[in-house]
Amino acid sequence: MPEGKNAVIEDVLFCGRRLVPFVDDGNEFVADAKSIVALRDMQQAAADCGLKIAVCSAYRSFERQFEIFKDKFEGRRPVLAPDESVIDISALSCVEKIKAITFFSAIPGLSRHHLGTDFDLYAPELLPAGQRLQLTYHEYDKGAYFYPLGQFLQTRAHAFGFFHPFWHNKGWQGGAEPWHLSYRIRAQELLSDFSFEVFCSLYQDKHEDFVPELISFSRKNYRKLLCMC
Ligand SMILES: [Zn+2]
Repeated sequence: MPEGKNAVIEDVLFCGRRLVPFVDDGNEFVADAKSIVALRDMQQAAADCGLKIAVCSAYRSFERQFEIFKDKFEGRRPVLAPDESVIDISALSCVEKIKAITFFSAIPGLSRHHLGTDFDLYAPELLPAGQRLQLTYHEYDKGAYFYPLGQFLQTRAHAFGFFHPFWHNKGWQGGAEPWHLSYRIRAQELLSDFSFEVFCSLYQDKHEDFVPELISFSRKNYRKLLCMC
C-alpha cells in the first residue's frame, strides 16, 4: 500500500495505537496495524482448514458509536433483550434505557472497537444464500450455520493472540458475542492508558438529555464495560 494511503488516524482516546486502512473481502476498514497482521495469520490458518473468515467491523469512531447509541435511545434502532428479542424501551427510565442498550451495544467512548484491536468476524461462505448477517449468538448454536466458525475461533484464535471479550453471557454488562475477537496484547497496552477524564471530554459538545446519566453510569461501570478486569 503506498505510504500516502497508509494514513494514520488519531483521536484522543487510545492515541497510542496506529490505525491504518485495510481491505478485507472487498470491504474497507481501519484497524491497529499490529492487530491486522495477527488477523491475517489467523485468516490464513482458517483458509488452510477450508474456512473463509471475513471482517464485518473493525475500528469504530466515537462519533459513529454516539450515532448508534443515540438512535437506540431515541427509538430509531431496535434494542434487543438478552434473548435477542426486540424490546420497547420507551416507558423505561433514563438509566434503565442505558442498561438495556448496553446489553448488546457499547457506550460511546467505551467500545472496544475504538481500540482498533477488535474485530467482528463472520464466514461469508457459511451464510445461507439470501440470509442477511445478523450477528446474533443463535447463528453459532450447534447445528446453526456459523457453528463451525464458532468452533474454530474458540479452539484456535488464542494461538494467534486473540480472545473473546464477550464470549460469556455476563448479565446486563454484555451479551455473548462469539463473533467479536480482540488482539489481546495490543488491547491491554492501549487499555492501560485509558483515562476517564479524556472519556468525559468527548462529551463536552454533546447536549442530549441522557448524557449526564450516561457519564454517571459509565463512571461506575467503565472497567466492566471495556472488559478491563
Ligand atoms: Zn464487536
